[in-house]
Amino acid sequence: MSADASHAETDAPNAGRAPADTVLRGGVIHTLDPRESVVSALAATGGEIVALGSDAAVEALIGPDTTVIELGGRSVLPGINDAHLHGVWLGAKWPEMMFGGSREGWDTRLLSSEDDRRAAIRKTFELLASFGVTSFTEPGLGPGEDDGVTGCFGSNILESYAALAGTAAQTARVTALRLFGILDGASHFADVKEGLEVPLPETDPRWLNVTGIKIFGDGIPPMRNAWIRSDYRDSGGHGGLMTGDGDEEARLAEFRDMITYAHERNLQIGVHATGDRTIEEFIAQVERLGGAGDLRHYVIHGDLIDADQLQRLQAIGMGIDLQPLIGDFTGEWLRAAVTDEVADAAWPLHLMLGDGLRAILSSDAPVASPDWRQITASAARQLEAQGVTLDRTVTTRLLRMYTSVPAEQDFAEGWKGTLEAGKVADLCVIDADPYAVGPKNFGDLNVDLTMVDGRVVFEREGVSLAARRGVTV
Ligand SMILES: [Zn+2]
Repeated sequence: MSADASHAETDAPNAGRAPADTVLRGGVIHTLDPRESVVSALAATGGEIVALGSDAAVEALIGPDTTVIELGGRSVLPGINDAHLHGVWLGAKWPEMMFGGSREGWDTRLLSSEDDRRAAIRKTFELLASFGVTSFTEPGLGPGEDDGVTGCFGSNILESYAALAGTAAQTARVTALRLFGILDGASHFADVKEGLEVPLPETDPRWLNVTGIKIFGDGIPPMRNAWIRSDYRDSGGHGGLMTGDGDEEARLAEFRDMITYAHERNLQIGVHATGDRTIEEFIAQVERLGGAGDLRHYVIHGDLIDADQLQRLQAIGMGIDLQPLIGDFTGEWLRAAVTDEVADAAWPLHLMLGDGLRAILSSDAPVASPDWRQITASAARQLEAQGVTLDRTVTTRLLRMYTSVPAEQDFAEGWKGTLEAGKVADLCVIDADPYAVGPKNFGDLNVDLTMVDGRVVFEREGVSLAARRGVTV
């Protein structure tokens, strides 16, 4: 093939096609597609990516009404997906975080009316847009919290999200899990059964999708209420399950019943499981059910998961959502509660870098900051301490843990999570190349622009990338 022919092949694929709504060009666009393609230009129409390639290739799609965003060498990533973030609570508390802020005032009434709830959701949408976050999972809303003290987790929250779904106010796509019990507390199988009979609001699943249920399996090791295989220091027992009442056996039976019931109804299950014993029982029950199939159940937190459990998770199609920043804040606290051996093996992120495991980074905001740049930097520091070299492959994996992998957890890898033709134009523009900066320094990156469904929903002050319209070609 001559040089000319190859030039024609790469540069004329879009000739004769209708002009795009929006073109981004002159950048370093990390598509995170399976081949890890990097292109300089992207075109979107009707919220969907219609072309990617060189600036010259996309030029043919610029018409008089096309918005042209000149990237000027900036980088682009798929929109960030925070797979564990309490959106309403975050909006009601911001800028306060539980870790890195005051530990007081977390058990007071925050929201009382529908106006309050929608205002909190809007605040979160706005905030997340400024971070480049275009999807998140609201993990646990339901009747057990209808009289909850903060007002941030009741079943009416789902109605509030539904009312905003697909409107201009919604700048991040929402996945939700239902909770039939108390936040960080008890739940009962009878309530799960009864609760699942209540119909869900009907919404476009691309904007609001309720995929399953959350179960609080246990607490957290520093509080000595995570269920662990060893004993806590100072004869502190070994914790236990929060499901059901009575002795260990009765609680375990109730836990298993919840998992089986939800699984048989084709619901995704996320279990708050920090202790290795809780994780073990969750995995073992899904193994008994023949694996997760395509229900994509996952461990939430997983502080004390071990190598064998990680392999079994992968083998049966389960995943794990981690919050490295919480590990930073609670590491010493954990060490005071468990043996050195257990503390040394906690949060084994270095064992979760393989392609086949659905391992995800997330914030748990407002428990810790929703800033994915800080969280990725924290993950990178932890990996380095675990002996991992932070090369390009690891950087890609960390970026995937915030984009393409959570899209799988959302059952949405067919239409979001990477930048490919036919997928939604959810993306963020970064002022420097994440690969050049390196993940430990992601905190230095600025998000200049965020786009959801082809719509610019955030632009950093002083940056006016989206201003150019009606370019003559
Ligand atoms: Zn949480």
